[in-house]
Amino acid sequence: MRHGDVPFVSLYADARADPRFLLEGKLAVAQPTIADARAALRDHFGYQSFRPGQDTVIGAVLAGRDAVAVMPTGAGKSVCYQVPAAIMDGLVLVVSPLISLMGDQVRGLKEAGIRGSYLNSTLTPLQQEVVMARALANWYDVMYVAPERLREPRFRSFAAQVGIPLVAVDEAHCVSQWGQDFRPAYRDIRGFVDSLPQRPPVVALTATATAKVRQDVVALLGLRDPVVQVNGFDRPNLSLASFELTPKRRQAWVANYVRAHADQSGIVYCTTRKKVDELAEALREQGILTAAYHAGHTAEERAEAQRAFIADDAPVMVATNAFGMGIDKSNVRYVINWGLPLSLEEYYQEAGRAGRDGEPAECYLLWSKGDIRTCHYLIDSTEFAPELTQEACQTVLANRERLLGEMIGYAMSTSCLRRRILRYFGQDLSGVPQECGSCSACTGQTADKYLQAPSRGTFGAIGTGSRAQAVGAGYVDDLPPTDEDEALFQRLRALRKRLADEAGVPPYIVFNDATLRAMVRMRPQTEEELLQVPGVGTRKLERYGSAFLAELK
Ligand code: ADP
Ligand code: ZN
Repeated sequence: MRHGDVPFVSLYADARADPRFLLEGKLAVAQPTIADARAALRDHFGYQSFRPGQDTVIGAVLAGRDAVAVMPTGAGKSVCYQVPAAIMDGLVLVVSPLISLMGDQVRGLKEAGIRGSYLNSTLTPLQQEVVMARALANWYDVMYVAPERLREPRFRSFAAQVGIPLVAVDEAHCVSQWGQDFRPAYRDIRGFVDSLPQRPPVVALTATATAKVRQDVVALLGLRDPVVQVNGFDRPNLSLASFELTPKRRQAWVANYVRAHADQSGIVYCTTRKKVDELAEALREQGILTAAYHAGHTAEERAEAQRAFIADDAPVMVATNAFGMGIDKSNVRYVINWGLPLSLEEYYQEAGRAGRDGEPAECYLLWSKGDIRTCHYLIDSTEFAPELTQEACQTVLANRERLLGEMIGYAMSTSCLRRRILRYFGQDLSGVPQECGSCSACTGQTADKYLQAPSRGTFGAIGTGSRAQAVGAGYVDDLPPTDEDEALFQRLRALRKRLADEAGVPPYIVFNDATLRAMVRMRPQTEEELLQVPGVGTRKLERYGSAFLAELK
């Protein structure tokens, strides 16, 4: 097994001691198998089994095939290239548009004992040279780069030398003009891959499901006979609710909710910057530590707000949709939308930032007739490029109105919200029950009823329906937690926060909420037992095991 901070010399010595490795002084490894991948999933991530689709994608790339992974946010796309990186010889190259996230991703990998690096414009030219030199000396398993990098001659000559067994294209929908986040530089990926001395397999990952985008991904990335894995879009651990609430009543509702969930992390999305500032101020006045984020704030303000939220210093983030692209904080327990997004794609993306760890989480849509007027107004004031014909403008407007119509239909729906979303995303609904039993349409939950419900942590706060759902999906144990469990969970959270602050990483990188919940359930007393807990791998056991065992005793 490799370690994040083993110096080059000893790594090389270790490798040479292993007879599998030597080939004329070069490192070479026997072709890894899916069994190796499973072992790596256990060792590095502490998970006993792959989630649906992960094994298909990993199996494909290990066999040298291209692959496409279409999976909703939170399904575990990263594992599809991180596990291969841990067991394949050479440097797995990850193309990602999310420069601001690369540092976090590399730190997360380090915690899992995988040697990551990144190359982007936040590094000085000298630092970039150092990273490339180290990569050539086999210091890393993974390197993250922005797509623009692939054009550079210096990078191309580096890539030709370093030995790349796999190229992963994250947020692959960015290659398509039909998607919302088109990045022209994604069109260079194909040429780059073809320019490598030996074309490695390419794995493309995205959460965007429409068929048109999927076709573009395959064609424009030049994928060769790829294995295509499309996961279902259901997120059984999310309970969905839509409440019609006037803005006046909304403020009290949100403040109550946030106060009742002060020990949890959540996001409130507002449609205007002004509302973000007002609501954040109102929550602060009530003594709630609140981070606020929108494009009108300075870069420093935004960075600090994001830091405070990710480090669990501020439990709640109030933001416009400028916040969240690429945020992979896994322990977000609720997302509240104040007002209507302009499409269900946008809504499900925002709501989907809750519960990425698979633990129960809640998504509330709060809207009123006034919000519908605001949305129409926003669409009417769409700005068009001057060269666009009248007809083209009309088409765009009609399209946006159609998307909004679907959003409004969802907000007002009196039938199951979950089914409605799944149908919208084109999912086959045979086998899905008529009622999910956990959304506000199924349970008849209203804004007022909620307000009165006693709240005790995540479990107390959600309806039995969604808990039953989550149990059915194998996410949580079916025994209701006791007060004692909840107290232990809070102690483990506090310990996690302390260790995370010491290590300078976000708390969810130490262990996610699902792992802490499992510790509460399983009460491990020995290192061996602790290793059985999902999310505890050997690396994290070494680092954090004794502290958590002490707390559990
Ligand atoms: P995505 O990139 O698809 O949004 P991530 O890769 O961030 O999802 O994974 C979401 C969460 O699921 C992370 O906390 C990750 O550790 C966890 N996870 C991934 N694979 C597994 C697995 N096989 N078993 C349990 N948890 C997993
Ligand atoms: Zn339902």
